[in-house]
Amino acid sequence: MRIVPGIWKVDNIRGANSYLVVSKDTVLVVDTGMPGSARKIIDFLAGLGRKPNEVECIVLTHADIDHSGSTAELREMTGARVAIHIGDAPALSGERRLKEVKGALSPVFTLMSKIMKFRPVKPDLLLKEGDEIGGFRVVHTPGHTVGHICLYQPGDLLFAGDALRSDKKGNPIEMSKQMTLDIEGAWKSVRRIAGLEFDIFLPGHGAPVIHDASRKVRELLGNVS
Ligand SMILES: [Zn+2]
Repeated sequence: MRIVPGIWKVDNIRGANSYLVVSKDTVLVVDTGMPGSARKIIDFLAGLGRKPNEVECIVLTHADIDHSGSTAELREMTGARVAIHIGDAPALSGERRLKEVKGALSPVFTLMSKIMKFRPVKPDLLLKEGDEIGGFRVVHTPGHTVGHICLYQPGDLLFAGDALRSDKKGNPIEMSKQMTLDIEGAWKSVRRIAGLEFDIFLPGHGAPVIHDASRKVRELLGNVS
């Protein structure tokens, strides 16, 4: 699905949304879906007339399996570099549990990553707040995970990862608490996002928000606080 010129949401990916930023010379992939999605991403790219080796970088908003699951495979198929925030790098590379949440769900996530055959990846680029990657600014938004990031083009667009999601009509809504490592931190990050200006909001889960998106995020905050 084309969102705006140069930005696509890969169709029929299992898990979280996977997006492509396609420019004249390069392609950037934002999140890779569950394990087994790499072929779909490559086929979608071929449909746009672009080759696997044009993918320069795979940027992950965070290490959760539904966002990072096909990264190992996609890196092999494209030769692209893998970038993630330094705080989530140990989860991606297998040095830490893939999903650190408090309570009963934690072993469930560990089991799921085994069943889904998650392949750890050692990232090539470690991101931090304020870095620039592929024309986007890294905004560190911890809470959902330690090293969760959003990718921001001021005045224009925000890849939100799991800082927030959206409903079918394209309204931003809050993430489920069970999936969130640190609820307080997550809300602090939402308030941070609400202070940014963007027309388009592309979440990890749910429909793209294509107009007036930062106002809608501020409205959400007004409704819950
Ligand atoms: Zn997540």
